[in-house]
Amino acid sequence: MEKFLKILMSYNPQKFELINDLIEEGHDSTRGIFVNRTLKMDDIKYIGFDMDYTLAIYNKIEIEKLAFDLSIEKLITTKGYPEFIRNINYDPSYVIRGLLIDKNRGNVLKIDRHKSVRRADHGTRSLSAKEIRDIYINGRIKQSDGGFNSVDTLFSLPEAYMFAKMVDAMDDGSLQIESYAKLFDDVRLCIDTVHRDGSLKGEIAKDLQKYIYKDPRLPLVLDKFREKGKKLFVLTNSEWSYTNIVMNFLLENTMLEYKNWEDFFDIIICHASKPEFFVKGKDFVEINQETNQMGEVANQFEKGHVYAYGNYTKFEEIIGAKGDEVLYVGDHIYGDILRSNKDSGWRTVLVVEELEEELAKIHNVYPDTRTLNKLEEKRDKIDYEITIYSNKVKKLKDFKKEKFITLTEKELVLIDQAILDFEENIQTFETRLNKLLLQIASLRKKIDTSFHKKWGPVFQEFDEISRFGDQVRDYACIYTSRLSNFFFYPVNNYFKSLRDIMPHEKFHII
Ligand code: IMP
Ligand code: MG
Repeated sequence: MEKFLKILMSYNPQKFELINDLIEEGHDSTRGIFVNRTLKMDDIKYIGFDMDYTLAIYNKIEIEKLAFDLSIEKLITTKGYPEFIRNINYDPSYVIRGLLIDKNRGNVLKIDRHKSVRRADHGTRSLSAKEIRDIYINGRIKQSDGGFNSVDTLFSLPEAYMFAKMVDAMDDGSLQIESYAKLFDDVRLCIDTVHRDGSLKGEIAKDLQKYIYKDPRLPLVLDKFREKGKKLFVLTNSEWSYTNIVMNFLLENTMLEYKNWEDFFDIIICHASKPEFFVKGKDFVEINQETNQMGEVANQFEKGHVYAYGNYTKFEEIIGAKGDEVLYVGDHIYGDILRSNKDSGWRTVLVVEELEEELAKIHNVYPDTRTLNKLEEKRDKIDYEITIYSNKVKKLKDFKKEKFITLTEKELVLIDQAILDFEENIQTFETRLNKLLLQIASLRKKIDTSFHKKWGPVFQEFDEISRFGDQVRDYACIYTSRLSNFFFYPVNNYFKSLRDIMPHEKFHII
């Protein structure tokens, strides 16, 4: 490495400085890349990138607050909502990714991979386990019933909070809307509008520093991919004018080798309409970069040109590469990852920003998690003892009943004594068990709330994987907290998945 840096210093001091600083800064374990399905980077010819929340890391709190405030304003001015809603302050800590909105009932839910509702709020009020069971048959949701909306991108966090707060206002009578579903549709429409009518992006463009984090490793990672012969492309749902502003901010003048940000990429596609891009999509058309006007249908891609719309089949036909030679990096589990993986067979990298915080917390609670495991082992042993003694008592009682006439008085006394001894043992175990259960419950709560005071961890739900965690496992070949984490891995790395095991194999694996 040192030799490489010396050579680099002599011919490209700017790149040397960038790399050297970042190496000195070090690599912490929260920046790892995690593997669900083995991926040989050697086999990958094209690497595509989503822009928002993938190439561009937003300052979450600022952009969410902005989207929230602009949408509240839209609710007032276009939907006639009362002025007082302007006083609702955005709480960025209320929602986590992966929750589900039940728009018909005014609830926000966290469900596990079996679709069991494990926690729920009505508005912002937590529902008890009994309330949950009363509302959802067997405590589970049937997604086919409709009316459920996933909070599956960071863009959707403000709408979940806005919905919950307005449900509170409907319940206390200060807001009159005909149904929770109508409220949700209004909120959705206003958020959708601020994304589409330029109001949100207009504000971001005025102060890019405030809203977007400029990751110093990003140009280096892209350059590293290019040096090893990978072809790179941008595939974003954002408009060209906005893409140009954001990408310019992120990459312009970052490295001597690249005059413009466009030089980092071989193909640039905006207005992609994912997930439709992976399902049916449209023809590609060329965009006039000056006027933003859509031009002729394009059947080839030229470097330096910009394209709109399109579909993955045509894309593969033009580039001459098939599904598993293309790797796509995105942040949206449905639009970027699930659809691209299922429909086009592209390999996928999911960027989950929350992973960094989640890993740091897993590390912090590790001593408590170990204690919890030990306590649970003890609990299981005591449970076992209680079952054994209870069986013995039952057997003796049955025996006594069955053979009563044939037993002598002395034998009966001995049996009663044995029953009494066993019952005393059971009582002792029960007392220890109750104490343990209290300890376990309080430790589980401590661990859980250290992730998020209301919703717990993003990827887990106590002993189960959350629905979001399950989707990540099912659809993302690999996942990481940010694209630039590739900086720490060789370009042609062989990402090997851990051996997957079934529960029955657990105790036989060395
Ligand atoms: P990408 O992640 O680079 O594909 O871009 C996502 C695009 O979707 C951005 O331009 C966002 O402004 C836009 N977007 C996010 N949420 C919504 C929405 O609710 N309605 C319309 N556009 C949205
Ligand atoms: Mg995105």
